[in-house]
Amino acid sequence: MNGRLTPLPEDWRRALAIVAHPDDLEYGAAAAVAHWTASGKEVSYLLVTRGEAGIATMEPGEAARVREAEQRASAAVVGVGSVEFLDHRDGVIEEGVALRRELAAAIRRHRPELVVTLNHHDTWDGVNWNTPDHRAVGRATLDAAADAGNRWIFTDLADRGLRPWDGVRRVAVAGSPQPTHAVEVGEQDVERAVASLAEHRAYIEALSGREPAEYARDVVTGVLDSVAPRADGRRAVAFEVHPRG
Ligand SMILES: [Zn+2]
Repeated sequence: MNGRLTPLPEDWRRALAIVAHPDDLEYGAAAAVAHWTASGKEVSYLLVTRGEAGIATMEPGEAARVREAEQRASAAVVGVGSVEFLDHRDGVIEEGVALRRELAAAIRRHRPELVVTLNHHDTWDGVNWNTPDHRAVGRATLDAAADAGNRWIFTDLADRGLRPWDGVRRVAVAGSPQPTHAVEVGEQDVERAVASLAEHRAYIEALSGREPAEYARDVVTGVLDSVAPRADGRRAVAFEVHPRG
């Protein structure tokens, strides 16, 4: 972790964030989302699962309902109104053509210039192993950003009226062990990001046994502070950015 991160360009209007689970965006990335929506950009969320396997003490049917509601509340706090869920099973998402088709369809519908996803690498930091869902969704998202623009891939989508969208200019991966870019965030962005994570109340209480607002403040400020040495000392969200076109 050395060297200054490049500021992530803000020459775009629409972003679509695609992740596996409720809460994936709230461990840092939501501060960048808060910054973006505050400056008038439009950000939408697409969740591949409802995170129903994420709470050991709650059976999956109930957890899916609770976590979907928590995710919608969490998105609203950072100015995101569009939250969609695909119906994959938590923990067993398969990377492949079927998932790429679903993600390409979403990209064609939303027509974003920026696509955001979560760490698709094997580990978080070279040591701690990542989950198969994160790997599958992150990699399929990077692939789907290109698939969405190719009229000869997934021609069935065009038959359904989803015309190719070749306007994705960057895919930004949050939580990557090899970040390239940063989004500096202000005090209001940090406060909204903390509140956004705290909305995952049932999840946080089960995971940590702590009061959600306190837990969220510790976690979010910790993540943003860890990027500051590479962002001129300012709190920031780090991304691994893959440019397109
Ligand atoms: Zn996750």
